[in-house]
Amino acid sequence: MYKYFGICKRGVYIEYYTIKVNVVKVSMLQLIYEGKSKRVYAVDEDTLVMEFKDDVTAADGLVKAVALGKGVLAARISVFFFKLLENAGIKTHFIDYDGSRRIKVRRLEIIPLEVIIRNYAYGSLIRRMPLYKPMQKLEPPLIEFHYKDDDLHDPLILEEDAIRTGILDARDIETIKGVSLRVNEILTKFFESKNLRFIDIKLEFGRSRSGEIILADEISGDTFRVVDENNNHLDKEIFRRTRDVGLLLKVYLRLAEVVGVRIDDVYASY
Ligand code: ADP
Ligand code: MG
Repeated sequence: MYKYFGICKRGVYIEYYTIKVNVVKVSMLQLIYEGKSKRVYAVDEDTLVMEFKDDVTAADGLVKAVALGKGVLAARISVFFFKLLENAGIKTHFIDYDGSRRIKVRRLEIIPLEVIIRNYAYGSLIRRMPLYKPMQKLEPPLIEFHYKDDDLHDPLILEEDAIRTGILDARDIETIKGVSLRVNEILTKFFESKNLRFIDIKLEFGRSRSGEIILADEISGDTFRVVDENNNHLDKEIFRRTRDVGLLLKVYLRLAEVVGVRIDDVYASY
C-alpha cells in the first residue's frame, strides 16, 4: 500500500492510499480469461494485465490448494526474470510492474505450444523414455514441443505436426528454438552464479500484430525446476510431492530471496 496524498483538514491529517485507486482500476478491467494460476484482463487492444492467483495445482489440475502470498511472489519472480532476459536482448511481453500480483504485458496471439527445454532428465521425460537415468545431463539441451490443450493433457508433438497443422512454419520453429536455447543459457548462467542447478523450463510464445515472435506467460517456480547442492527444489516440485502449501511457500520465499526480490511486504495486504 503506497501513500497517494495527504491533506490537512481542521488539524486532522488525512491520508489517501493508492491501493483504493488500484482496486477501482482493476475491477473496471474486463476479465478475458481465467486459467489455473492466473487471471487475464484486457486493458486495451495491445495491453493485458496478468493477475497471479494464490491457487496452486498439481497432477494435471486434479490437486488444488491455496497458498497465500504465492501470487505476488510468482509475479515478482517472473518480473525479475523478464527484466534479466530483456537486458540480455530477448524480446518479452513484459511492460510494467507496480509490486502487486499484477503484471502489465503486451497482448499477443498465443502460439498454442508449450516449449520445454531440458538440461537434466526429470519427471515426464523419464516416464515416457525410461532409459534416461534420473538427472542425467542432457547436452545439448533437449527441446520438446507440447500442444497446449488441457483436455488432451498437453501432448508431446513432433515439429512436423506443428508445421503440417499450420501452427507455425519451419522458420518460426527455428526462431523459437533459437530464442528458447538462448533463454536457457541466460538462466543457466544466472542459477550457476547462485550455486543452483537449472533442470528444465516451460516457455510460451506469442505473436505481435506485426508477426514478431515474443516470449510470453510467466517464468517462476511453477514453470521451471531448479535445485541446490543438496538437491532441494526451489520450485513447485515440493508441492507435487507433498501437497503441502506451507512447504511450497517456504520454497517460494527462498527462491524470491535468491533472485533478490522484496519479500518483507508480501503479507502486508492479507
Ligand atoms: P493456463 O491454465 O491455461 O495455463 P494461466 O493460468 O497460466 O492459464 O493463465 C494465463 C493465460 O494467458 C495462458 O493461457 C497463457 O497462454 C495466456 N497468456 C500469457 N501471456 C499472454 C500474452 N502476452 N497475451 C495473451 N495471452 C497470454
Ligand atoms: Mg499457465
